[in-house]
Amino acid sequence: MKTISNAANSPKHCDDHPNLQTTLMDIYHRMEDAFGDRGWWPASSTEEIIIGAILVQNVSWSNTVKAVERLNDHGLLTFPALAAASVDDIEACVYSTRFYKTKAKKLKAFATHVMTHHKGRIDAMLAQPMAPLRAELLQIYGIGPETADDILLYAANQASFVIDAYTKRIFYRLGLTPADISYESMRAWFMANLPADVSLFNQYHALLDAVGHHFCSTKRPKCEACPLRSKCLVAQGKLVI
Ligand code: SF4
Repeated sequence: MKTISNAANSPKHCDDHPNLQTTLMDIYHRMEDAFGDRGWWPASSTEEIIIGAILVQNVSWSNTVKAVERLNDHGLLTFPALAAASVDDIEACVYSTRFYKTKAKKLKAFATHVMTHHKGRIDAMLAQPMAPLRAELLQIYGIGPETADDILLYAANQASFVIDAYTKRIFYRLGLTPADISYESMRAWFMANLPADVSLFNQYHALLDAVGHHFCSTKRPKCEACPLRSKCLVAQGKLVI
């Protein structure tokens, strides 16, 4: 991706943007007007949320749902069952997800961690304060920052902002953050400029997913229908992709 003319057009990290909270809330309301309440995370238990968060990385939601349903059909949608199951049996349930062999190992590792360190009590594990819980999550095999923040926000109901590829792409195109911003920098930027509100963070991430999924594709974004078009450098012809 390149800017259309010179460095003056290139999105910077906008710490100096006037009233960033107003800007971020304006973006939020435009998306909310277009998509309404997204009702995330669609799951019937805390364990299902966590299992879905591990499985959904780099794969469509529909294929994640197939894997969750198959785990449920085989009695493996709990951490005690996953910890006791063989990796082969877990693989057979989650093969609809990309990197299913690795994901089976991740599910087994997470379940084993809960059984070993928290006596199987996921609610007790998630009741910890955000900083130590996030640090613990990040030490578990296969849990990266995005999955850890999904678990914090949607399973533990803690105000940890989730960053994903859609978030980075959309905010770069809006001219608010640089293309190469790190995960931790972008998360800290959102959390410094929005009220620490679980419902807001829940819906904000879900709405960005909707914009990314329906409009803001990598190569041919559908800007004419996007609720963010009037704020966007790409839609205004100021940024070439
Ligand atoms: S207007 Fe286009 S480039 Fe900008 S966020 Fe929407 S879909 Fe993406």
